[in-house]
Amino acid sequence: MDFRNLDGANEHREIPSVFYSDRDDKPFTHCISCDKYLLETGTLYVIEKAIKKYEKFKTTDTIFEYAMCMNCYHKVWQSFSSASKTKMQDYFIRNASLDARRKTLSETSALNIEDWLSRCIIKGTPVGEVSEYQICCQCDGKNILFGHSLFMISGEAVDEIANLLSNKTLGEIDGFVGEFFGWPPELKKSLRDQPVFVM
Ligand SMILES: [Zn+2]
Repeated sequence: MDFRNLDGANEHREIPSVFYSDRDDKPFTHCISCDKYLLETGTLYVIEKAIKKYEKFKTTDTIFEYAMCMNCYHKVWQSFSSASKTKMQDYFIRNASLDARRKTLSETSALNIEDWLSRCIIKGTPVGEVSEYQICCQCDGKNILFGHSLFMISGEAVDEIANLLSNKTLGEIDGFVGEFFGWPPELKKSLRDQPVFVM
């Protein structure tokens, strides 16, 4: 099953600034892996950003961010062990109330990005109450798609997902993090400092 393609027709909007790259405060332009240009209509890709909040200073820090074309994303996904892939998909299907979420959101708040990212997709925790979280979306060229792939996930849920994974898959993710974020594995502070892959 392809989790990210469950959506069917998605509503489109211009990519909101919350998904811009911190580097220049503009939309991501290229795939982190193959350098494909992303802003052409018909080019599907994923954006993920991990955010840490510092309550004391009323500020946030982006732990990592990337945009990746679907082609490369599929390749990363395929590198995982089949047991891990099944566990991740089951976890999302069991814990995220996707259809209910999408229905409620499309009825109540239409295409307000803040509403879509206001609660952890798994735990339901409000974004105001989590110290670490990730935001994910799928885009088509210059547009974001409003559907299953647009969500916020709390650090707590990322930990749970990481704990489901085989050593092979954790090794693949460490390799990803090392290659694209430049972190050696020993610098990874906790399990939640890693991307969430959902297909
Ligand atoms: Zn790519």
